[in-house]
Amino acid sequence: MTPQLSIVVPLYNEEAGFFALVERLNTLMSNFEASIEVVFVNDGSNDATSSLMHQLALTDKRYQCIFLSRNFGHQFAITAGLSCVRATEGVMIIDGDLQDPPELLEKFYLNYKNGIDISYGVRLMRPDEGFFKQITSKYFYKIQARFSNISIPSNSGDFCFMSKPALDVLNKMPEESRFIRGMRAWIGFKQAPVEFERQERSAGETKYPFKKMLKFAMNGIFNFSETPIRFITYLGLGATTISIFYLGYTLYKKFYLNEIVSSGFSGLLFAIILFSGVQLISLGIIGEYVLRIFFQTKQRPLFIIKSRIVDGDLV
Ligand code: UDP
Ligand code: MG
Repeated sequence: MTPQLSIVVPLYNEEAGFFALVERLNTLMSNFEASIEVVFVNDGSNDATSSLMHQLALTDKRYQCIFLSRNFGHQFAITAGLSCVRATEGVMIIDGDLQDPPELLEKFYLNYKNGIDISYGVRLMRPDEGFFKQITSKYFYKIQARFSNISIPSNSGDFCFMSKPALDVLNKMPEESRFIRGMRAWIGFKQAPVEFERQERSAGETKYPFKKMLKFAMNGIFNFSETPIRFITYLGLGATTISIFYLGYTLYKKFYLNEIVSSGFSGLLFAIILFSGVQLISLGIIGEYVLRIFFQTKQRPLFIIKSRIVDGDLV
């Protein structure tokens, strides 16, 4: 039977919280008005996640399981899951650590029935996250909104519901550098926030160390904006203007006042170091765009599915 709704859950080394997750999903499915399939994506876990998924999906047909050939990363695991969704009405994306309460599907579905295509979760509180993560996250959304052509609603993550038409559009977007919450904001349709309290991680630990977070945040800016490149142009124009004025000032002093302007050695050194820095940063910014072109032109698949369990059968 074709389900009305799907729930996509990326899993990377989530053995510790697996049963708690399945229990919550089972309770949700048994009480829900629409039929639901769960799409678990194993993102190359090296713990027992994979075998737990096998055991579950071979006996319970409501679970579709996808096994990627290696660890592709959170955003690609979600992408793989979305590509295999069979639901006729819509899909919800949640994390596998129960930080996003699956029960919010009820509110999402109500929105859907009222004509809202995309509902996204907005976090009211982030209890387990330290001061540092809260501050960086707050400023990330501010900076992102300033720099970018589309603004991602503050404190929204990938936790959301999308109608089938919205999902079809997202599935057709081939970009390699994936930032799903931004792509979701970009596609438009009728969107609405739904507030929720972000729970503490049910078990295990975060798979997003600082370095990964930084790379992820850069995608949020560079994938949706040409502002950084424009910024270089303006910086160059500004520096050139200053130097022309300075040249005029020097010539004026030499020919009219008969003085030779000398700013001294340290002044010169300062200017050289400053502008070397500016040039390297500018090169780096251009490099960010070149990198994205480089990876995109290879046209490699975004993820590789090694095997899949559908309707209790391994395919
Ligand atoms: N995840 C994944 N691949 C990765 C890293 C994470 O599929 O390479 C999954 C992870 O299992 C979890 C979700 O993505 O279900 C969110 O990760 P996590 O909870 O570690 O991120 P945080 O909530 O700390 O930002
Ligand atoms: Mg988490």
